[in-house]
Amino acid sequence: MNQAVAFNNNLSAKLPQVRGTYEEDASLKKYTWFRTGGPAEVLYTPADIDDLMVFMNGKPRDTPVTMIGLGSNMIIRDGGVPGVVIRLGKGLANVNVRDDKILVGGGALDSAVAAAARDAGLTGFEFLSGVPGTIGGALRMNAGAFDQAMQEIVVYARVLDLQGNLQTIAAEDLGFGYRSTSVPEGWIFAGAMLQGMPGERGAIAQKMEEIRAFREESQPMREKTGGSTFHNPEHGEAAGRKAWEIIDGAGCRGLTLGGAKISEKHCNFLINTGDASSQDLEDLGEMVRKRVLSASGVSLEWEVRRIGLPLSTTESKA
Ligand SMILES: Cc1cc2nc3c(=O)[nH]c(=O)nc-3n(C[C@H](O)[C@H](O)[C@H](O)COP(=O)(O)OP(=O)(O)OC[C@H]3O[C@@H](n4cnc5c(N)ncnc54)[C@H](O)[C@@H]3O)c2cc1C
Repeated sequence: MNQAVAFNNNLSAKLPQVRGTYEEDASLKKYTWFRTGGPAEVLYTPADIDDLMVFMNGKPRDTPVTMIGLGSNMIIRDGGVPGVVIRLGKGLANVNVRDDKILVGGGALDSAVAAAARDAGLTGFEFLSGVPGTIGGALRMNAGAFDQAMQEIVVYARVLDLQGNLQTIAAEDLGFGYRSTSVPEGWIFAGAMLQGMPGERGAIAQKMEEIRAFREESQPMREKTGGSTFHNPEHGEAAGRKAWEIIDGAGCRGLTLGGAKISEKHCNFLINTGDASSQDLEDLGEMVRKRVLSASGVSLEWEVRRIGLPLSTTESKA
């Protein structure tokens, strides 16, 4: 069935004129690491930050807006995403080193920022070399690895609110928590100023190589996956334990449902083995949560963001 018929709102005719691009009924599969999920009613790629502000300011108030980065921590449900999905492209992917700071756009790749820092002899960004997303996604998720996280390197973020007002928010006011910030859902991370420290290029490069080798060894980096599926528990008796250990203890390593599988290499990673639907992935995640709860009493919380509608919802609207 045609998903555009399911949405059936001729939405792009109601959107402001922009210099960026609108694509109706746009497949999003290629924009996620899982390679699953339905289309965006409209996919908007802004030309630059001014264009994005024009869009946010001029869009109908009741049009939902959803941000995606590289889709490396995201399941897009099979029925697709109503409203406008925004993907920051080259127009917001700037990476400019200024002494010991780096000014970055929200669409810049984390790996590109880490590489620019290495080339400039700035340390503190090495952990970003292994996080396969954008700076916007890293800010939203307070991405972290190897005992470092975004909150330690952000000086300020440039954020657009729902009306398109550009605000500069200092790091201490971003409400960074474990894989989260307190910035309201729907606000857009358009960029940030990041702080590094002078370091020795060879040592930085070596640390990045160690990170790459460790990840290759311990994570399914070459699979269709979505990063950590569940948060490591922060509260209760399980606080401090790793989600993968608890999942392993509940006998879920290698568990499958349809085309979805719990990674044998790292039990906190879901994998699309080839023909999984987003429903398969989400159902397998829920099956793991149930088994873990029954085996250990731990209620795992999703870390992977799940957006959009299940297929049945959009089918029934058509
Ligand atoms: C193999 C693999 C390894 C990973 N390892 C790590 C790791 O070590 N540490 C870690 O923290 N994560 C890890 N992840 C998860 C993921 O890479 C991070 O969470 C990353 O920061 C997500 O960035 P993204 O651009 O892909 O965002 P997406 O997955 O596209 O989106 C994630 C969330 O951010 C929001 N978002 C995206 N861009 C913006 C924006 N510009 N403004 C506002 N909101 C936005 C989305 O709406 C969504 O809610 C891994 C993932 C994979 C596949």
